[in-house]
Amino acid sequence: MATQHYDALVPGSGQASTPLASHLKGLGLSACPVQRSHIAGCCVNEGCTLTKTMVASGRVAYLARRARECGIHPGHGDIKVDMQKVRQRKRDIVTSFRGNSDRRLKDAGVDVLMGEANFTGENEVLIELSGGGEKKLSADKIYINLGCQPSRPNIPGLASLDQSRVLDFTSIQELGEVPGHLVILGGGHIGLEFGQLFRRLVAKATIIYRASKDPELPISISVTTNPKTTLSVRASHILATGRIPNTETLGLDMVGIKTTPLGHIITTPTLSTNVDGVFVLGDVKDGPAFTHISYDDFRIIRNNLTTQNYKTQGAVKTTNERATYIPSVEYTDPQFAHIEPKFGDLKTFAKGRNLGDETKRLLKAVVDEGTGQILSFSALRS
Ligand SMILES: Cc1cc2nc3c(=O)[nH]c(=O)nc-3n(C[C@H](O)[C@H](O)[C@H](O)COP(=O)(O)OP(=O)(O)OC[C@H]3O[C@@H](n4cnc5c(N)ncnc54)[C@H](O)[C@@H]3O)c2cc1C
Repeated sequence: MATQHYDALVPGSGQASTPLASHLKGLGLSACPVQRSHIAGCCVNEGCTLTKTMVASGRVAYLARRARECGIHPGHGDIKVDMQKVRQRKRDIVTSFRGNSDRRLKDAGVDVLMGEANFTGENEVLIELSGGGEKKLSADKIYINLGCQPSRPNIPGLASLDQSRVLDFTSIQELGEVPGHLVILGGGHIGLEFGQLFRRLVAKATIIYRASKDPELPISISVTTNPKTTLSVRASHILATGRIPNTETLGLDMVGIKTTPLGHIITTPTLSTNVDGVFVLGDVKDGPAFTHISYDDFRIIRNNLTTQNYKTQGAVKTTNERATYIPSVEYTDPQFAHIEPKFGDLKTFAKGRNLGDETKRLLKAVVDEGTGQILSFSALRS
């Protein structure tokens, strides 16, 4: 099989891939992103955009339920949630956003190869083409931007349950009806956002801690807490919110690229790996997993290759500069934004300050008394 050579290959169409491939093309280099499913990665197809679209439906349901209390009479009877319509709205927005990314790549003159990338040598990748067949590519530089996929926790009994009731962050967004009682394994931003959303759509939602005595519900979970007590929860559905990097079948062993025990690719502060010419951007490396981090990875790479022959000029950028201050937001309602609240007292935020109807808001900064430097900042606000 003939090998096609590029200046740069970008396996994965994540949040860094589109701007990076477009930038490389603008430098006059040949760059080829390789994507196994949909253009635009997790953020647009399975992550940020979708959850926020559904969170918006949840907020409308919540406000509609409170309408009479505020002197508004929307009509007769209780509000109803049409989950299929909620899902369709989400699907339409995904299609539109995906189309925008596709257009941006086309406008930049970048061709995307649809298929699954696997390493076969240090600068060689075999693509199993989505339409059938294979293609061998090689490149001077390879920029891996493969992201993560849902992971299943290793809980005894999980495999013997009705699998249509065991959800992950992708399949939960395809539900055609509101579950009776959703148990969420994990209280990170994904768990919190889905927890509040489904509660507002009138499911019961438990982020692993409270027992339900409803005998009709088919799933029973025991949780051992610390200090040690065993709690039991009965539920209709389980949502596992974990994520693992997309490296399992990538053939990293073939080239000796080092990973952590969980499979994240180990990088230097300039995002290079232990193999010359191979760089990593986004969630597939170890560290905070957010869209803005992936985009910032692109900015670091862009800064460090300023000429066509990849020579750096000026100051080299690294991940060290952002390491102390990484912003993130829980898109619950109210939203909770923070920049490393290592010193923050989260209990204060839980109480918040009730300003009338529904808005709880609080800003908190921890400032170094001597230097005046802001050490952490958090904002709770609708
Ligand atoms: C439910 C949910 C909500 C989220 N909400 C937010 C939020 O509000 N804010 C925020 O900042 N972040 C959020 N995130 C995280 C955010 O989606 C990711 O951090 C972001 O998408 C990272 O992108 P990435 O560049 O690493 O790659 P990704 O966007 O994950 O894209 C990688 C792409 O590579 C493809 N791929 C994988 N393996 C191969 C292969 N071998 N060959 C070819 N292609 C391959 C995958 O199909 C995927 O499309 C959320 C995530 C989830 C799951």
